[in-house]
Amino acid sequence: MEKIKMTTPLVEMDGDEMTRILWQMIKDELLSPFIELNTEYYDLGLKCRNDTDDQVTVDSANATRKYGVAVKCATITPNAARMTEYTLKEMWKSPNGTIRAMLDGTVFRTPIVVKGIEPCVRNWEKPITIARHAYGDVYKASELKIPGPGKCELVYTAEDGTETRELIHDFTGAGVVQGQHNLCGSVESFARSCFNYALDQKQDLWFATKDTISKKYDHTFKDIFQEIFDAEYREKFDAAGIEYFYTLIDDAVARVMKSKGGYIWACKNYDGDVMSDMISSAFGSLAMMTSVLVSPEGYYEYEAAHGTVQRHYYKHLKGEETSTNSVATIFAWTGALQKRGELDKNAALVDFAKKLEDACIKTIESGKMTKDLALITTNPNPTVLNSGDFIKAIRAALEESLR
Ligand code: NAP
Ligand code: MG
Repeated sequence: MEKIKMTTPLVEMDGDEMTRILWQMIKDELLSPFIELNTEYYDLGLKCRNDTDDQVTVDSANATRKYGVAVKCATITPNAARMTEYTLKEMWKSPNGTIRAMLDGTVFRTPIVVKGIEPCVRNWEKPITIARHAYGDVYKASELKIPGPGKCELVYTAEDGTETRELIHDFTGAGVVQGQHNLCGSVESFARSCFNYALDQKQDLWFATKDTISKKYDHTFKDIFQEIFDAEYREKFDAAGIEYFYTLIDDAVARVMKSKGGYIWACKNYDGDVMSDMISSAFGSLAMMTSVLVSPEGYYEYEAAHGTVQRHYYKHLKGEETSTNSVATIFAWTGALQKRGELDKNAALVDFAKKLEDACIKTIESGKMTKDLALITTNPNPTVLNSGDFIKAIRAALEESLR
């Protein structure tokens, strides 16, 4: 078979530990034999980030703005232990945070559904995608402990010095207080990312807040979504046969549990944090989840939802066998290759990426899987494979479908 050619480079962001090992295996076994891989390579491994004073992360985000599509390996976010382990000059910031800030995106996470790994919720037939707003609210709040009686107020001082005040509470005893904020610009970006992604996936979009109680704060989110939908997206949604649906957060939770799945659920920052853990564990595992950062300008960065699987890496370094699930990392590649193929009108590339995804699913459904899945499968006789053999089994299934 002739190798598939790529016209535009894909931004490749390499990473750390066990996922870096998987990254190379995936390229060697599942990509390079079939595609003339055209990537612009950035090494986001911690050593290179440290050597370049983290410039490499900034460069990789700029490259994503230039080419439109990136694929990212999981990376270490340094903490005190990593400072000594890697003799770091500084406790570098999370690369995901840096990239997210530069692309101003929304993160979409979707479970990868296979027979034999059944959701805890019986009626969920299709995946539910969580779209999490990644700015503000409780994550950028100011807090005070109130020691005793006294008046607490919100004060806004305009540039001309005029003050607007709102009483929070007249304390008669000790208590706590919190001030949250968000930015209309950020909510607008969030809304557009969600509407674009729904059109891309041809799935309904749900959005929910607590606007009945939070009449200014949450209501602003609701209004911004509705205004942008009416002005820019209603006709496109009608043409695509999909729906935008707003409801209260408690009603949304009840409906989600009773639904068949197959839609995108846009969540405020905190709701998205909590609900994405609920959705991913109810569907199976973080290693069976796709994750993509979509910017309002239409840049895409695909990654795995899990980390660098440090515990497995240390076993690997000691020469012990590992059984690390590579599906989420493979799907990061297939997501990026499909998007690249779509943008470049490269049907062969799109087709190959879909076949590789199918090969992963077929392999697991045939009973061959890594240990994490063997522990939760309904298949009574799974074959547990090591990290390398699992990828080789996927290659065999892929070659079968390409024949
Ligand atoms: P982790 O890599 O998500 O792994 C935690 C545990 O989950 C593993 O020990 C393993 O459980 C299981 N697991 C996760 N992915 C798996 C896979 N693909 N196959 C099989 N089992 C899997 O989290 P961590 O080990 O706590 O964090 C390691 C590093 O990742 C940290 O330095 C953190 O900063 C970084 N991180 C990066 C990202 C990112 O770049 N997107 C996200 C999160 C964390 P068992 O050990 O029980 O088998
Ligand atoms: Mg969380």
